[in-house]
Amino acid sequence: MQDLLIKNGNVLLFKDDNILIQNKDILVKDGKIDKIEDEISENLDKNTKVIDAKDHIVMPGLINTHAHIPMSIFRETTEGCSLYEWLNERIWPIEDKLTKQDIYYASLLSFIEMVSTGTTCINDQYFMSEQIRDAARKCKIRAVITRTIMDTDGDYATRVEEFKNFYNTRDENEDLITYSVAPHSLYTCSGACLQATADLAREYNLPIHVHFLESVDEIEDIKKKHGKPAIEVLKQYFEGVHTILAHGVHLSQDDIEVLKTMDCGIAHNPVSNMRLGCSIADTTKYLKEGINVGLRN
Ligand SMILES: [Zn+2]
Repeated sequence: MQDLLIKNGNVLLFKDDNILIQNKDILVKDGKIDKIEDEISENLDKNTKVIDAKDHIVMPGLINTHAHIPMSIFRETTEGCSLYEWLNERIWPIEDKLTKQDIYYASLLSFIEMVSTGTTCINDQYFMSEQIRDAARKCKIRAVITRTIMDTDGDYATRVEEFKNFYNTRDENEDLITYSVAPHSLYTCSGACLQATADLAREYNLPIHVHFLESVDEIEDIKKKHGKPAIEVLKQYFEGVHTILAHGVHLSQDDIEVLKTMDCGIAHNPVSNMRLGCSIADTTKYLKEGINVGLRN
């Protein structure tokens, strides 16, 4: 791996709870930061790549904690809908027509856009996962990839098999690509479907990535579908499994108390929530309560 010297950058440094911005040089050897000093002028290996970062900020890559990577090609075609209308009448009918080639090139587009704005790691939830993985490899980006599992059509077993086939073709030496198990949501998965995903996560020791209380309608819908409140369904299937909850907009104080006892983090999606009229997650409160909050950027 080529060594790298980043010179003259405004480097974001994290000390205790403070963020400092200082003009520094950074030397990267064998893919790891070797030193950060005011000026690095030692004799470098002649293959070392030197980047002049004057007038630029040098910082760790941003992490997009919840994405549907290829969906960037739908941008601006599906405005003015509520969540259910957006999914049922707009997005799912279009997705039924997507080809593998569509997914590959749409993923490349999204990765390029994300890298160009500083995102270097993406937690994804989609399907045709091989093509997303191929695109991630092409871009050398860090990604957590999965095959979304749901059973509104009654068939979760086929999707579970697709996930297994996808996961079993992983390269174990590859450290940029990792995996999660992704039940789509508690309102699109039956109890048997949720149990199958929980079993997969435990068997393969993978995290769960699930939409959770994104819209206010879900509160009653989940209760009707599973016979108990969403938080109890979540706890029933995923307690003890590291779980990323996408959205988490409509959490009651009781929900928060339960989440505090679980291994959960929330992926906050303010732009999506505003676009679909889902309201705003009270992340200030969540953070005060000690719940981990990540950002979808
Ligand atoms: Zn989502």
